[in-house]
Amino acid sequence: MREEYLDPEYLPEILPHRENEIEAVFEMLRPVAEGRKPVNVFIYGPAGIGKTAVAKFVLRKFEEEGVRGVYINCWYFRTEGAIITEFLRQLNIPVPRKGRSVDELVREFMNNVEGEKIVVVLDEIDAVESEKVLYEMSRCGNLGIVLISNDPYAFRKFDQRIISSLAPHSIEFRRYSVDEICDILKERARIAGLEYEEEAMRVAARFTYMHGSDIRYGLLLLLRAGRLAEGEGEKLKIEHLKKVEVEENPKREMRKEELGEEHKKIIRALELMGGEASSGEVYRKYREIGGLGAERTFRKYVSELIKLGMIKAEESVGRGRTRILKL
Ligand code: ADP
Ligand code: MG
Repeated sequence: MREEYLDPEYLPEILPHRENEIEAVFEMLRPVAEGRKPVNVFIYGPAGIGKTAVAKFVLRKFEEEGVRGVYINCWYFRTEGAIITEFLRQLNIPVPRKGRSVDELVREFMNNVEGEKIVVVLDEIDAVESEKVLYEMSRCGNLGIVLISNDPYAFRKFDQRIISSLAPHSIEFRRYSVDEICDILKERARIAGLEYEEEAMRVAARFTYMHGSDIRYGLLLLLRAGRLAEGEGEKLKIEHLKKVEVEENPKREMRKEELGEEHKKIIRALELMGGEASSGEVYRKYREIGGLGAERTFRKYVSELIKLGMIKAEESVGRGRTRILKL
């Protein structure tokens, strides 16, 4: 089995059941290839259903037509300076690390984008700290912009002028059906050279559907069960699927590893409380398991986690106002 083809980071050559979405995104941006103003795109929908994969696929398609593609995940590049520096870096434009103000970077950006054919994907846009960068990008007439988020209302807090300047066309990505998941997983199994029994694949698809159609979940299931099957010198069977564990939300687990220690402790505290508790209760639990932050710091960390989409908060109005935190 060639495990790398089951890795959730791998971008396959074909994306079954996303042909229409690929076409739609490509069509909106196509004017870039002719040096004209494109329609920007906003892609939204739940986790693990091919939003990033489709966007990267479209960039690859554009590169074949002489349009340069830039992919930036705002989870890793959050500030205006970080985003523009990364943008320039991907276009091989040298940027001295030190002594550059954001204004100078923006000027450098403007000078280099003018007259060029470029499509930029800003993934996980809800994680950006300054949306001003979107204003600058939207003012470059010939730059195509794709924004991606799990949250359909990702822009609600943005300045109205920025939204009108971007004027993105929204495309909703819907979760896959069991049959669609089955086709997608089969294709990944095929390129990975994983042999399977037909009914095992149906079961893997159903499990994946039960986990929000998150294909990452399905791929990890195939990978782990596939290893087990291979170890026994057998094809993948239902019993192998039943023996392995896959984390409920693979992406959140992965991201958790990248958080700072105190943030991790807050998530851990919330997990220990069954995934939902009032802010005060989570704070007490957080201190109990060794959290160092005082209440104010704790609240700051919590708002950061909310911004990152790691937890949600709801105001519950009962006796007094309580904030309920949820995983
Ligand atoms: P999202 O960005 O919507 O959270 P991704 O695009 O990262 O999800 O997809 C998660 C994983 O599932 C990736 O490995 C991706 O290649 C795979 N995937 C999603 N949709 C498809 C599809 N239609 N065909 C093949 N692989 C897919
Ligand atoms: Mg994604």
